[in-house]
Amino acid sequence: MRKEEQIPVMLTQCDQDCPFIFRRMRLRARWMVSPSAKPQAISSGIISITIPNKIMLVNSIAIHENRAMLEHDIIKQLRVPPGEKIRLKDYDSGWRQTKELRLLGKDEVKARAKAFLDKTIIELAEAQELLFADDTYSILIILQAMDAAGKDGTIKHVMSGVNPQGCQVFSFKKPSTEELNHNFLWRYARSLPERGRIGIFNRSYYEDVLVVKVHPEILELGKLPPGKRGKSFWQERYDDINAFEQHLVRNGTIVLKFFLNVSLKEQKRRLLERLENPAKNWKFSAADLAERAYWEQYMEAYESAIHATSTEWAPWHIIPADHKWGTRTLVAGILAHAIHRLDLKFPEVGAEKKQALHEAKKELEQE
Ligand code: AMP
Ligand code: MG
Repeated sequence: MRKEEQIPVMLTQCDQDCPFIFRRMRLRARWMVSPSAKPQAISSGIISITIPNKIMLVNSIAIHENRAMLEHDIIKQLRVPPGEKIRLKDYDSGWRQTKELRLLGKDEVKARAKAFLDKTIIELAEAQELLFADDTYSILIILQAMDAAGKDGTIKHVMSGVNPQGCQVFSFKKPSTEELNHNFLWRYARSLPERGRIGIFNRSYYEDVLVVKVHPEILELGKLPPGKRGKSFWQERYDDINAFEQHLVRNGTIVLKFFLNVSLKEQKRRLLERLENPAKNWKFSAADLAERAYWEQYMEAYESAIHATSTEWAPWHIIPADHKWGTRTLVAGILAHAIHRLDLKFPEVGAEKKQALHEAKKELEQE
């Protein structure tokens, strides 16, 4: 499924300070060392980087540079390894995740991110068609975040190129009486994507270990059997979620979980914008402000939940969310990467079907 581009490239020895994209190219290049070669000026199709001492001349290079960059460096950075204890404070909510990104500078990172997003959106349309035609797997995207972190905008942008028939979005609010009359996973299980589809949960069963943990009085609405609501109660919920997700994965659903990590400061800016900009007034909810007051408790609940439920089969990604272009690019990239990894192919048309097509064509032509 990987597309390869042949680009004549002039590459030099890449040291630690080399922008990661070139480092990645080097790893994938077929090169020969040519110590006498002089770096060339950038001209069409030639990329030249000047590094002292050693110069490698690359005749051709087979890469999909942006995807490679994402696969190997960024996704790894964002994915929470199973069992890892995390502190959200350690995760940059801006754009400086790696030394390479810092070296590139914000403007360059933003420009690359936007170009990558545009390209990925086009690729996603194709990938989603393949997912649909193959009709074996489905993708479940789980988006969790504090208010105003950009869940809605991410859905709108990332899915903008995808055929609406192949995509199902569900937003989960406070549970209804009917929903409360069932186990906590019931309403989510009913909304899972069909094979061949991409399903998005805008909030999910994770709310049942987040908002419900921060406000335990909500639990009382759920008519649960009596019992303690301590640590082991929440551990059991995490266990249930892990088992549920494992069941999904075993049955062909790829589960991708994203925590959009917005900072307290950026949330304030966005909420103020909703108050001050008449065109955004409708987005403001007093509840957002009330929940903001519980920021620390939410962060703790997220840290525990992510630690307990980032598994090999359904890992969490902590996505920097202070810049919308960054959030959207990363989610789109991880989604495209997940579909490409399935290595799907359009179903082959067998001899019998070909004969039937031939007959049908003849019939139509003779009308
Ligand atoms: P929003 O997505 O901002 O429109 O708000 C939806 C609201 O529903 C949020 O305040 C969530 O915390 C709340 N919510 C979502 N799921 C649950 C749940 N399982 N139990 C209680 N509240 C929930
Ligand atoms: Mg809200």
